[in-house]
Amino acid sequence: ITNGIHIPTWTHEPFKALFDKYAELWHKDPKYLRKAEIIPCEEIWEAHMQCKRSLFDEIYRLTSRKWDPEILTIGFARRAAAYKRATLLFKDLDRLISIAEKSPGMQIVFSGKSHPQDVEGKRNIKLIHDYKKTIENRTDKLKLLYLPNYNMRLGYLITAGVDLWMNTPLRPHEASGTSGMKSVVNGVLNFSIL
Ligand SMILES: *Cc1c(COP(=O)(O)O)cnc(C)c1O
Repeated sequence: ITNGIHIPTWTHEPFKALFDKYAELWHKDPKYLRKAEIIPCEEIWEAHMQCKRSLFDEIYRLTSRKWDPEILTIGFARRAAAYKRATLLFKDLDRLISIAEKSPGMQIVFSGKSHPQDVEGKRNIKLIHDYKKTIENRTDKLKLLYLPNYNMRLGYLITAGVDLWMNTPLRPHEASGTSGMKSVVNGVLNFSIL
């Protein structure tokens, strides 16, 4: 048993335009995406920034928070199943805060629902909200958001619009996850356990 994504569905408009230009037929057969390596870096960056701005527009619409597109932004959006370890990032909170304080800043966007009977998954969602409060009391260099009502549209915007896709499941329960595949077709780096 394996899984995958339908690439044209999960490719954001700016990357669709790039692939149309440099990797014709990409939507018919993913093998044509091999040609994507000839795309100039500046064009990839410009497409990436368009995806990032479209996510940040949605973040503003949903939360009234104005995030800065020039700041490193990490994404984590998935079902809140315990094995995906959404709170692993906060295991050493002092270190996380000190990294953020030494940098120009960091923004981390979370989203995801849990199964109603998944007690630990629900606890993790609450824990992330608690960490958010703790962190906001200690620093303004690290910004967190948990976007409510995770759905395919939010999944589409978040996987394309962050700089880094964080994947921290318990080995060997998952490889990249399908969200990791979505980020790849939008030029987003995977930051993952093995
Ligand atoms: C992609 C997606 C998933 C699955 O993501 P995984 O990384 O495979 O867990 C679940 N829900 C939504 C809304 C998605 O877009």
